[in-house]
Amino acid sequence: MGGRYAGVAAGIAWTGEGYQVEVLDGAGRRVVEASSWGADRVAELVPWLRGLSEGSGLAVVLDSTNGLLDGPLTAAGLDVYRADPWLLPPRPRFGSVPAERLARSALDGPARVTAEGGSLTGRAEEYHEGVRRSAPAQAAMTAAGRCFEHGRRDTPRVALTFDDGPDPVHTRQVLEILDRYGARATFFCVGHHVAALPDEVRRIADAGHELGNHSWSHPFLPDLTPEQLREQLDRTTEAVARVTGEAPTRFRPPYGGLTPEVLATLAEHPGTVTLWDVDSRDWSRPGPERIAETVLGGVRPGSVVLMHEGAGDRGQTVRALPSIIEGLLERGLEPVTVGELAAVPAAPAGVPVTRS
Ligand SMILES: [Zn+2]
Repeated sequence: MGGRYAGVAAGIAWTGEGYQVEVLDGAGRRVVEASSWGADRVAELVPWLRGLSEGSGLAVVLDSTNGLLDGPLTAAGLDVYRADPWLLPPRPRFGSVPAERLARSALDGPARVTAEGGSLTGRAEEYHEGVRRSAPAQAAMTAAGRCFEHGRRDTPRVALTFDDGPDPVHTRQVLEILDRYGARATFFCVGHHVAALPDEVRRIADAGHELGNHSWSHPFLPDLTPEQLREQLDRTTEAVARVTGEAPTRFRPPYGGLTPEVLATLAEHPGTVTLWDVDSRDWSRPGPERIAETVLGGVRPGSVVLMHEGAGDRGQTVRALPSIIEGLLERGLEPVTVGELAAVPAAPAGVPVTRS
């Protein structure tokens, strides 16, 4: 990271319609015509960028309000950079700054994003500090029933959750496996993908699973203004409701990226903030066996398990899923939706919990 970048840079902006791409050389001249890509065309966008990077090298620049492309781009071996808000002019209420501005920011030393570090490479400390500072507000919201991390520990149920979809390939595969075992799950979808792949959303709903809101573009929430955050929530709710006729009642913050300020905005908004207590770490692609071990090693009655079915190659998650479900069933843990898990009322204080 850092330093002036003299080569070719591709800026990728997101809008309500998909992605805009501008490719500029070090002198700010267009290398190819500006192009638009639907959110369902990432499988074409990636090889197109790879073609541009051959020979001359290419810096791909995203901003911190786009957490959907860094995975597929770094996995393809592209050099990905993140232009943080302090390098950019103010964003519009909805969407990132123009692609041309993102490409130009390659000259200002944006942060290099690695596959291991994910979208928040270099900002881990800031992230953890925000989560730490949020603990009191989060506890208050949990007590008020407005935040949910896990269900009762005396109930033999577990909620599997799949984030960042829908996906043109993996959503169907996950649904097929869930159906094979009669398992229900919750899908925290991003509006950007919901708008591009409504049929996949319909498929999820028709199979009896729960749909949750996971923002529109997978931003690092602390970088948004309250208005921008509300816009992300409302547009995604509308996009899901347009397809299924039902508005999601749960919101999962991307990365679990919370601050007291973010929680204050979420507290004023309808819906339950829904986190997790078991992280499969499937996004780091450690192999299907490892993903299954992580989940089965961490899961307890009442657990909410974080997995991903969109915004990258989730083949490992799909391959791990049968072992995960079989492992849960062997322990007598029933996979249900988060709504079903949360519907079991808390044991009244002072009354001993009956164990079966
Ligand atoms: Zn996510």
